[in-house]
Amino acid sequence: MSDRSVDVVIVGGGVIGASVAYHLATRGVRSVLVLERDVLGAGSTSKNAGGIRYQFSSEINVHLSQRSIPRFERFADEFGIDIQFHQVGYLILITEGRLVPAFERSLGLWRRLGVPARRVDRSEIRSIFPELATDDVLFATFCPKDGHADPTSILHGFVSRAREHGAHFREHAAVTGIDVDGGRVRGVRVGDERIPCDVVVDAAGPWARAVGEMAGVDLPITPLRRQIFLTDEIPALDHPFPLTVEMASTLYFHRESGGLLLGMVDPNDAPGYLESVNWDFLPTIVERALARLPVLERAGVRTGWAGFYEDTPDKHPIFGAVDGLDGFVVAAGFSGHGLMHAPAAGELIAELITDERTSMDIAPLRLARFAEGAPVRELNVI
Ligand SMILES: Cc1cc2nc3c(=O)[nH]c(=O)nc-3n(C[C@H](O)[C@H](O)[C@H](O)COP(=O)(O)OP(=O)(O)OC[C@H]3O[C@@H](n4cnc5c(N)ncnc54)[C@H](O)[C@@H]3O)c2cc1C
Repeated sequence: MSDRSVDVVIVGGGVIGASVAYHLATRGVRSVLVLERDVLGAGSTSKNAGGIRYQFSSEINVHLSQRSIPRFERFADEFGIDIQFHQVGYLILITEGRLVPAFERSLGLWRRLGVPARRVDRSEIRSIFPELATDDVLFATFCPKDGHADPTSILHGFVSRAREHGAHFREHAAVTGIDVDGGRVRGVRVGDERIPCDVVVDAAGPWARAVGEMAGVDLPITPLRRQIFLTDEIPALDHPFPLTVEMASTLYFHRESGGLLLGMVDPNDAPGYLESVNWDFLPTIVERALARLPVLERAGVRTGWAGFYEDTPDKHPIFGAVDGLDGFVVAAGFSGHGLMHAPAAGELIAELITDERTSMDIAPLRLARFAEGAPVRELNVI
């Protein structure tokens, strides 16, 4: 591959890089190369909870979901892979008055945008999920079209179809430099190897800031550790139930392998790349989960793992070209929502590269919004 020019190099072989590659290849881009320093999916893509939802507080995040979720519903037709998309809904429990005004606003936004999410009272919550403790719940929001799917299958769908359309993926190929000359990108370096290209897409997830720095671009993307625990099978929970979020504490859980996948923000986590599990946090999350779901009492925790959110100051991704540097395109900073927005992200970034315009307005997600003091706020971050 050395010194063979490619049109587009994508740095990062997670779900975003793979989706961008797929959409570029299907739009006829002659040469697409994804460079992954580890193995495909080794970053956040293989660590995440698989949650997919419409219930965001910002209009642009809802639009990204509206472009992505129908693609997940038809994934098997488009990609030939069953992604185990369980549309069991997201049930968001509101237990504190301070959260009520924001969710009232969100319910209005969802009505306006045609999202089938609704307010549910305690008795309806009990009929949706009888095992939940609801005494402290003021109300919940429920969207039956939300759910969860298998992240690895989604990644493989994009990768295999991208390959069929001519895209190349190289593993164990860490990008160590980006050549810039005359205000434009000229190529990337993988150690001693130089790969000339017209466009570099930074899809390096929680490491996107370091890749940006190689091109002299400062991306405000910070790694934040997030942990997941998996319980043994719970025979008493033998029916489908929604991915449930206790908004005030950030506890969330969904059905996984006959047991429960649980997550919650550890307030002691400082930004950084510490990827080990903090087992000292387990009693805190178990205590919260038991209070919400008493049938958990007899379930042991089988395993746990940690990964990174790729956090931006306004919890929205950074999309698109960078002022003053031709050929450098950012698709990163999804702040914990990158799996569910991968179809839209790949499609929009591919449109931008091939047509220099997009079928949805992504200007609010430009990098310059931070310097301009024009962030887009998202409140429903878990
Ligand atoms: C615990 C947890 C739960 C989550 N739950 C959800 C959820 O329910 N729903 C949801 O939508 N999202 C969720 N997320 C977020 C989601 O996982 C990410 O938003 C998504 O995976 C981002 O994909 P990516 O391709 O941008 O990043 P990644 O998957 O991290 O891929 C980036 C890749 O770039 C590679 N790389 C880095 N530097 C270089 C370099 N110099 N050269 C070459 N390669 C490089 C890395 O090795 C990595 O494989 C969760 C995340 C975590 C940690």
